[in-house]
Amino acid sequence: MTMTQLQDISRKKSAELFEQAKNYFPGGVNSPVRAFKSVYGTPLFIERGDKSRIWDADGNEFIDYCCSWGPLILGHNHDKVREAVAQQLDKGLSFGAPTRLENELAELILTNNQYIEKIRFVSSGTEAVMSAIRLARGATKRDKIVKFDGCYHGHSDSLLVKAGSGLVTFGETSSAGVPKAFADETIVIALNDKQALEEVFSTFPDQIAAIIIEGIPANNGLLIQDQDYIHFLRQITQEHGTLLIFDEVITGFRLGFEGAARYYDIQPDIITYGKIIGGGMPVGAYGASKELMAQISPDGGVYQAGTLSGNPVAMSAGIAALRILAEPDFYTKQEEKTRSFVDAIRAYIDLKNYAVQIFTVGSIFWFAFTDQKTIKRADEIDPLSMEKYKVMHRSLLNQGIYFGPSGYEVGFISSAHTQDDLNQTIEAIKIALDSVYA
Ligand code: PLP
Repeated sequence: MTMTQLQDISRKKSAELFEQAKNYFPGGVNSPVRAFKSVYGTPLFIERGDKSRIWDADGNEFIDYCCSWGPLILGHNHDKVREAVAQQLDKGLSFGAPTRLENELAELILTNNQYIEKIRFVSSGTEAVMSAIRLARGATKRDKIVKFDGCYHGHSDSLLVKAGSGLVTFGETSSAGVPKAFADETIVIALNDKQALEEVFSTFPDQIAAIIIEGIPANNGLLIQDQDYIHFLRQITQEHGTLLIFDEVITGFRLGFEGAARYYDIQPDIITYGKIIGGGMPVGAYGASKELMAQISPDGGVYQAGTLSGNPVAMSAGIAALRILAEPDFYTKQEEKTRSFVDAIRAYIDLKNYAVQIFTVGSIFWFAFTDQKTIKRADEIDPLSMEKYKVMHRSLLNQGIYFGPSGYEVGFISSAHTQDDLNQTIEAIKIALDSVYA
């Protein structure tokens, strides 16, 4: 066996659990990407995680770069987060009444974030975005929204819409069950295209409530936008009385405590959060100026509620996690670690002359199998890249490295990843890349 023809790890127990799960859940999973449809083999059923590592039902150990799709910036089972959750468990799981913990998490966020003045906690990123859209529509008394091809904002009806044909057209639903009437209110345009933005406003004057963009689009590759374009987006929305929503479910507390708003030095009108904000527990949030947030019920006429919103166990996890993130130099260290990791792999790619790019920002990275040095729009991604990713993914799993099960997904580095973990991963990636080009 050569180094590139690695033996597949045993997935016997995971495969059995997956067969069982298919009797219970559509496709055997509770969220589609987990089904491993875009990579080889059956999904791994995870038993436990600690620091940078996870273990599956067959006892295989992996260094984890999926990090629960982003929330685990401190790694698995962080002692401070676990202690905070355990303390709350003694006091009760849920009251459906206000708690001191909600105030504490809000204060921690608002005193360290100059871009929002008030916040509302919800239970997922989808809910945060859905509520932000309703707020924008309520505040502007307009119905249409604009989203970008290649940005994901959760699974609410208004946002499961893909681009139609033409530069600026009504979108088409991207899921069965979304009424056409919803898609007619959502316009989808390409990223990094100022002309498309201008055309949106000339085609639909005074009709657009909000434009929503991911802080840095990171759900369909990593499509890092230019500062100049984002500032243009801010300017043109302002000129037309349209609100700018930054969906920071991934970038919030990841690029820095103040996320992409700080990164681009932009004041969005509404910001949505999720993932990291709950320290691994289900929390989402949206925030804006005092004036805008005054429109939310019970103060204002925009209704939004939640039985488990501000759940005390989830708040405790969020407080413990965010306290650590607010410490000086936390983000600088993550960035330095990520930069040296990526540089080491790039050096090997250059040495071997492979057509591979690694796009990176903060502690996020994304592999694209292409010669293109920049990718800023979804339609610039070569679908053939995904076939190569599948080969890399398989090789990495066989070497104990867990990347997200799709080539469109980004990887995350946590504070729990040690230099030894990263060195081990760099060596595994070299072998995996060789297997792609063998
Ligand atoms: N917005 C963005 C940018 C996301 O990445 C996601 C999820 O990946 C969502 C919204 C939806 O969040 P959730 O899966 O918590 O509903």
